[in-house]
Amino acid sequence: MLTPKVLESINKQINAELYSSYLYLSMSACFENRNLGGLAKWLKVQAKEEYAHAMKFFEFVLQRGGKVALAAIDAPPAQWNSVLAAFKDVAAHEQKVTGMINNLVDLAAGEKDHATSSMLKYFVDEQVEEEANANDIVGKLEMIKESTGGLFALDHQLGKRE
Ligand code: MG
Repeated sequence: MLTPKVLESINKQINAELYSSYLYLSMSACFENRNLGGLAKWLKVQAKEEYAHAMKFFEFVLQRGGKVALAAIDAPPAQWNSVLAAFKDVAAHEQKVTGMINNLVDLAAGEKDHATSSMLKYFVDEQVEEEANANDIVGKLEMIKESTGGLFALDHQLGKRE
């Protein structure tokens, strides 16, 4: 059985992962409107991945006999002033999620909940990748600056994500 504290934190994490999915979906729509279909596709794939993260926690709670408590998902922003501003938001958001995962890891260890600790290893590794991907794109956008050609090339590259 999950302890009340662990259950509450995992339920909050489900909400955070769904918010991530919402945030990236909103960015995807914003860039689709600006004819940056590659960026839009990358973000849509990312949104699906975030939904899958939420579902991993969802299934885990049920497997452990816990009650899933779905709370309201905050509305994400709908507009970004630049592609760089959007991806800086992605990077900052992923850092925040990493902090939440780390807090969960500490909580599970404190509660001697080994099953939750083991499940969380996937997310610890996943966050390393998420932050690296976001930082890589921010770095490229900082190199590109105002170059339309550079942005088109990046859009093309990111659009290859399946
Ligand atoms: Mg996630």
